Amino acid sequence: MISRKGEARVRRGHPWIFRSDIEHAERADPGAVVRVVGPRGQPLGFALYSSLSEIRLRMIAHGETLPGDWLQQRLDAAVAWREVVAPGVEACRLVHAEGDGLPGLVVDRYGEHLVIQTLSQAMERLKERLVAALVERLAPRGILERNDPRVRQLEGLEARVGLLHGQVPERLDIEEGGLRFEVDLWRGQKTGQFLDQRENHAVAAGYARGRVLDAFAYDGGFALAAARRADEVLAVDTSEECVARIEANAARNGLTNVRARSANAFDVLRDLEARGERVDTVILDPPAFAKSRDAVEKAVRGYKEINLRALKLLSPGGVLVSCSCSYHVHEADLEDILHAAACDAGVSVAVVEKRRQARDHPVVLGVPETYYLKCFVLRRLS
Ligand code: SAH
Repeated sequence: MISRKGEARVRRGHPWIFRSDIEHAERADPGAVVRVVGPRGQPLGFALYSSLSEIRLRMIAHGETLPGDWLQQRLDAAVAWREVVAPGVEACRLVHAEGDGLPGLVVDRYGEHLVIQTLSQAMERLKERLVAALVERLAPRGILERNDPRVRQLEGLEARVGLLHGQVPERLDIEEGGLRFEVDLWRGQKTGQFLDQRENHAVAAGYARGRVLDAFAYDGGFALAAARRADEVLAVDTSEECVARIEANAARNGLTNVRARSANAFDVLRDLEARGERVDTVILDPPAFAKSRDAVEKAVRGYKEINLRALKLLSPGGVLVSCSCSYHVHEADLEDILHAAACDAGVSVAVVEKRRQARDHPVVLGVPETYYLKCFVLRRLS
């Protein structure tokens, strides 16, 4: 039985019920599917139970009955939707947790291979059923679990990376936007690639010209897409491994105008500015500076600094693609930061586009947590 406050949140479409919203509970196994009732005993629906997380319940259905094949149905619906928003795309997200009515579950497709993350007790418990359903629906060559995100700790689940089905090679060759990338599903960041930026890579490339700087480049998703239109591209990442991969990816695609450098983007931006250099297109896609609400203030200073420097470097008429994947820094916050950076840089900028994560990472109205990646395209006017 949940509180009035919990009930109100559920009725507004939010799937999470916190520990403090539970007024009375019968014994349930960790990760069980449980029935949820409101403060007057009225049935609200069904939820996945977690015995440890502050998020005790994650709603999966409203009403009085839950079909026995709910999991299969949701998976089918999620996969079918990708045929609409990502047709023919080799690497995309098939299941985006709450965004697909499957809280705690991520499924990414890389060609004939799948990577899954079961991030709650319930999804961990359903893992075998999930694998069977995915094998039946998609017949993948292999399914890998990349269960190494830290959030699993909140559920009392250990970190684990391993095969769940078939085979998954050490390296895959994956196409994105007509380019080929080498992807490491076992050890790469996230599940191998930043699939959430796929659509933004293509959009940013459309604006790229002249000299391009991709300051947090990973495997060169933005850099390589931009290189096909620009004169020269400098891709920067602190990780030597990323730099080696960018170089290999550029060579694989016959791109000779990409340079990759292992360096701190803050330093590179400062040096270029100090040398009075000009860049025509800048892409900023840093890691989440604010991983928690407490870190927002420091994160804001970080975003402000890189954007200020980028705007100073930009030639008039140039384009800045500025991203933030910190959930706690909301779109309006980022817009304020960009405005403040433009004022300090003494430049006037126009907002060309406000974008977000690719459409295979659905954003649910009333569930702000599903909207985490912001991407502004700005044009320096003067
Ligand atoms: N733009 C990429 C994803 C970037 S993820 C894409 O679209 O695929 C962020 C990257 O920034 C990571 O590869 C990380 O290694 C790198 N990074 C983190 N801190 C950095 C810093 N201070 N300077 C440069 N790169 C950094």
